[in-house]
Amino acid sequence: MDRIYLTTPLYYVNAEPHLGSAYTMIITDTLARYYRASGCDTFYLTGTDEHGDKIAQAAAQARLDPKAFTDEISARFRATWDSCGFAYDHFIRTTDSYHVGYVQELLTKVYQAGDIYFDRYGGLYCFGCERFYTEKELVGGKCPDHLTEPQLIEEENYFFRMSKYQDRLLRHLEEHPDFIRPEGFRNEVAAMLREPIGDLCISRPKSRLTWGIELPFDHNYVTYVWFDALINYVSALKHKGEDFFQKFWPSAEHFIGKDIVKPHGVFWPTMLMAAGLPLYKHLNVHGFWTAEGQKMSKSLGNTVSPLEMKKTIGMDAFRYFVLRESVFGQDSDFRQDSLTARYNADLANNLGNLVSRVLAMQQKYFNGLVQSLGSTWAPEDVELKERFVKAEYELGSHMADLQFHRALEAVWAAIDYANRYIVQTAPFTLFKETDKRSRVGEVLHHLLDAIRTISRLIAPFMPDTAGELRLLLGLGEDDPAYRAAWGECFAKGHAVKPPKVLFPRIETEGKR
Ligand SMILES: [Zn+2]
Repeated sequence: MDRIYLTTPLYYVNAEPHLGSAYTMIITDTLARYYRASGCDTFYLTGTDEHGDKIAQAAAQARLDPKAFTDEISARFRATWDSCGFAYDHFIRTTDSYHVGYVQELLTKVYQAGDIYFDRYGGLYCFGCERFYTEKELVGGKCPDHLTEPQLIEEENYFFRMSKYQDRLLRHLEEHPDFIRPEGFRNEVAAMLREPIGDLCISRPKSRLTWGIELPFDHNYVTYVWFDALINYVSALKHKGEDFFQKFWPSAEHFIGKDIVKPHGVFWPTMLMAAGLPLYKHLNVHGFWTAEGQKMSKSLGNTVSPLEMKKTIGMDAFRYFVLRESVFGQDSDFRQDSLTARYNADLANNLGNLVSRVLAMQQKYFNGLVQSLGSTWAPEDVELKERFVKAEYELGSHMADLQFHRALEAVWAAIDYANRYIVQTAPFTLFKETDKRSRVGEVLHHLLDAIRTISRLIAPFMPDTAGELRLLLGLGEDDPAYRAAWGECFAKGHAVKPPKVLFPRIETEGKR
């Protein structure tokens, strides 16, 4: 793969950044770092969704005009992601003038092609969802999300001929079985497409809502939020130029939560077809997080805040936990006891101990100076190296399948082996015999190479820890030695740093 375009949904500025949105960010940030390090040309996009009824109402409540209100909230979102260290390439806002211009351009194109028509329509409308519901979609006559009764409204609106593209989209799904993944979500969309999907109401009269993008062919209307927000995936690339769009669009990988499968799996591809644009490469759908078995909500006070996690256990440990504990596409449960258990076992003990033992011995036996390797390696040395070669290979294939937990499992299996290698080679015993000291130097040299490899392998998942390991090994970020082959990084006499506690154990006894 030589290029990849990664996107998150645009976050709705009326909500706070929480574990659900942070999870999509962690996944995409990890992939962006992974692909960049592999030399793949990467473009990573996120941003905020800022139009619609709910925003207009919240702005009115805050006594601000909608633009001033969204400026403030969008900046807060961005500041949160920045302090989490997410390395996106571009942050788009649906109020950005280039986006507004492109949405109008696309609307004009689809309108002129005859795929947008004007019609009178009456239906049950939920103001909270900003959309019409069919009787079938309601639960006990109420909106399943808001648990309120929708209102019967009748008005004239513009409609997108979505149904015209239904068969073509279904065929695309059949010809590209991984277009939407994992498979369960593909089947969900395929089932939707086997029933009549109807046309999509894409306008709101200004008499009811003014905070939106005006239809270029009727100034009495603004466009429906989805026929605005979804287009960001293309407008952000077009903003960088037509060549940039041509270069990245065919490699588009959308990442979303399972609540917005229909707009991304049905509305968006049919919109692209109507606009004469190629479809995205994959729609990747992740599950939801609960906390201690319960749905997270503000009223229950059990929401998990990424910034709070950063303060208590550190961003890297938080990233490690959510990626190691969840299976992409399935729901996961955030439990404090599993967080503590994983932190202590995998980070404090397994990784933390390996690093502190090796650096402590290097300091104690050789003043921190790396010793040379002999011309022939002992079988256990070859085995240690092989374990890491295997981990790197497995990591690559699990990343391609979005199996982040498996990728980490593979790296931790190698870390585990490195700890066993210390027990097996017993440098602390060997050092007591003067004639075995050069062997101790070799063993530690191999272990430093193991730590260097760990630093490289975990960098996409735990960027700060990877950087700290590199510094402890006395290597600069752009030092070619950092990426050298095993045994070819450290010259004799290279100085490594004394040990440091990377992950202090979380003591649980006596608490609560
Ligand atoms: Zn609703």
